[in-house]
Amino acid sequence: MDNLFKTPIEYLKGVGPERGSVLTSEAGIENAWDLLNYFPFRYVDRSKYHQIIDIPAMEGRAVQLKGTITGVRETGVGRAKRLQATFQDQSGTIDLIWFKGAKWIKDKLKPGVLFRLYGKPTLFKSTYNIAHPEITPFNGVAHEKGLQAVYNSTEKLTKKGLHTKGIEKLTYQLASEIKGKIPEFLPLSVLQQYNLISREQAYRNIHIPPSFEAVQKAQIRIKFEELLLLQMELLLRKNINLQKSSGYVFRQTGAYFDEFYAAHIPFELTNAQKRVTKEIRKDLRSGKHMNRLLQGDVGSGKTLVAVLSMLFGVGNNFQSALMAPTEILAKQHYQTIKELLAPLDIEVALLTGSTKKSERKILFEALSKGEIHILIGTHALLEPTVVFKNLGLVVIDEQHRFGVAQRAKLWKKNTKPPHVLVMTATPIPRTLAMTFYGDLDVSVIDELPPGRKPINTMHFFEKSRLKVFDLIKKEIALGRQVYIVYPLIQESETMDYKNLMEGYEAISRSFPRPKYQMSIVHGQMKADDKAYEMEQFAKGHTDIMVATTVIEVGVNVPNASVMIIESSERFGISQLHQLRGRVGRGAEKSYCILMTGEKLSQEGKKRLQTMVATNDGFKIAEVDLEIRGPGDIMGTQQSGILNLKLADLARDGQLVSAARQTARDILEEDPSLVQSEHQNLKIELKRHLKSKPNWSKIS
Ligand code: ADP
Ligand code: MG
Repeated sequence: MDNLFKTPIEYLKGVGPERGSVLTSEAGIENAWDLLNYFPFRYVDRSKYHQIIDIPAMEGRAVQLKGTITGVRETGVGRAKRLQATFQDQSGTIDLIWFKGAKWIKDKLKPGVLFRLYGKPTLFKSTYNIAHPEITPFNGVAHEKGLQAVYNSTEKLTKKGLHTKGIEKLTYQLASEIKGKIPEFLPLSVLQQYNLISREQAYRNIHIPPSFEAVQKAQIRIKFEELLLLQMELLLRKNINLQKSSGYVFRQTGAYFDEFYAAHIPFELTNAQKRVTKEIRKDLRSGKHMNRLLQGDVGSGKTLVAVLSMLFGVGNNFQSALMAPTEILAKQHYQTIKELLAPLDIEVALLTGSTKKSERKILFEALSKGEIHILIGTHALLEPTVVFKNLGLVVIDEQHRFGVAQRAKLWKKNTKPPHVLVMTATPIPRTLAMTFYGDLDVSVIDELPPGRKPINTMHFFEKSRLKVFDLIKKEIALGRQVYIVYPLIQESETMDYKNLMEGYEAISRSFPRPKYQMSIVHGQMKADDKAYEMEQFAKGHTDIMVATTVIEVGVNVPNASVMIIESSERFGISQLHQLRGRVGRGAEKSYCILMTGEKLSQEGKKRLQTMVATNDGFKIAEVDLEIRGPGDIMGTQQSGILNLKLADLARDGQLVSAARQTARDILEEDPSLVQSEHQNLKIELKRHLKSKPNWSKIS
């Protein structure tokens, strides 16, 4: 790359040491290349003017107006002092407000002068106003350029004259000097296949935008190269991991698996379950370390796959462990699995935070002697005091709740890292899986066990509660059971408790004993009491289960046919989907009812609409990603590592796939990048890898 780009930022025309150091500290810009990579976050069409009358229809987007000032007044005193002005065009008037710099601006606002104004209207007490607009005398022509790039600035940058316009001046200057200085590194065939513009042109157009279309092409080009480098990095790491890490060999399916499969398995496996079990089996005997992600929607039967996998371990003289995110879920797994494996001569044990000290002592001893074959538990399993004789496989349920560091502890539980099977019920959108788990193999259970009935999902406002209670009564009369779930926010447990209790009382009044029996489960109950209440419901002794989200994962009561989610606008969409998955497991017809108050945010509406519209976990996951962004879903720790400047994993799914495919093709054809058309790519990739922290241990 040309030396121009290594130029320290302070030496750039118009910068100097003071601005240079603020650019570095505020925006991480150290040299000219960094500045060129400081992209506008949006563009404004400066060739068009809006009318004041149209502002309400524009939903808060920025407007450009042309008009005059008809009145100026100062209000308030001291810190509350502000300047207000009335701005008028042919269609109406709007208030302008300045909270500071009043004096300086006041002098500018001469009556009779035609101004060009740019700013973002906000609604305050049912009228619009614009705070701190950009206002300049109208010079007869529109802004010189049709499109204007808008850059992020900060208070400190602004103080040095580097508000968006100041930055624009610098990038404009730089981008006009790059001709012939930015070499192409994408192979010609790739440019042609995806119809991408050159790198140089992309960098120019993104800062000096000729049209929206050109900007879009520039963005696509830059996103593509970002994603390509990322995918190449992931594939390279995956290959390195494969070569490096050897794993325990589970040579045979083993006597336990064989017997269980032949005689005790309670139902015919679905084809998807068979397929993923084969994939796992293949990994386990390959001699390589398994690091596999098992995705499957709620109720797709992942537990059974986990059990079969653990039997492979036990049958090859290894211990296996299953780790769940909550105590209730761990217990339920323990009960299910103990029951399933009862006919076999296998020792299954449970370890959670509430396992008593005396029990622990016995358990730890048996574990270290190899007398316990399968250990099920919460993250208590990770503690250093938990020592296995020969741990060969760990299954992690509901993976996204475990942090990276926690998982790393597992690797140390034996001389070689045990095989890892990560199960997640929240399907991770393909684009995310490809990126975050680029070095994991992925198995998907894309089929539900037979006999599942579609769930009818409906949204009701509070005022329709009686209708909802009628439905509950009808279902109970049919012999079905009902969940009523209240949200739980960490910040205010007491408030949640209050909501739950008030709800419980209201429901008790409408569903009086002895005709109706109710269970209640919440976070402030003792574990034993919770388990008892759960059991009452599971056995069909109670009709209604009132609970906070503790029942979110794993609970299995096939006779339950109605899931009512109170204040459902307070739940995330994948949580709603998880909860819904508790019904539709047996009854002929099931319902999921989303109760909300009248006031809903845009996002809240979207979540509810999506829930009503689809039962497909993958679609739900896509919407979740769109609403929350990948960082939130995977935990900030992981999103920071990606460090993407333009590409957005939620919105650029197609580009992610294209980049993934291209990276594959290139590495397959030329694994060491020796071909001449890959030389520039190799240089760029090296630069990219050098800039990244080592995250090979991330999964
Ligand atoms: P999840 O994938 O959500 O963990 P589970 O493993 O809890 O799902 O399975 C959900 C329910 O489906 C359980 O009651 C389980 O016994 C049942 N199940 C699992 N596999 C099958 C199958 N092949 N045929 C019928 N029922 C199955
Ligand atoms: Mg499960």
